[in-house]
Amino acid sequence: MDMSQLYDIACRTVRPTRLRQDGYAGGVACALQTQDDAVFTGICIDLPCALGFCAEAAAIAEMLKNGRTIIKRIITVREDGAVLSACGRCRELIRQLHDDNIHTLIAVSRTEEISLERLLPNPWN
Ligand SMILES: [Zn+2]
Repeated sequence: MDMSQLYDIACRTVRPTRLRQDGYAGGVACALQTQDDAVFTGICIDLPCALGFCAEAAAIAEMLKNGRTIIKRIITVREDGAVLSACGRCRELIRQLHDDNIHTLIAVSRTEEISLERLLPNPWN
């Protein structure tokens, strides 16, 4: 599976849902490919008081539920199709799951992926 196919899966996972008050979910979706080529997806949850989590965290929870820890590539998209580079918290989360994830490719646009090693050159330990 290449980046373009993973992008299409992420786009199909977007499902904007209005929640009570100013709550919102599913406007951002993530698809990740594991070392053994399994694919997992997740959506964001945004609630008042900074409750909720990034789409990457939801996809990672699905991956962990299925016994995988090594991510080959990951892509996150907004409902308009724009690619969103993983935030600093998600980069650190990916890094802490497994040492091999330093090689995870993170999409920063529809055509460019950058390794976590380059995005997070001096990880916290
Ligand atoms: Zn994030």
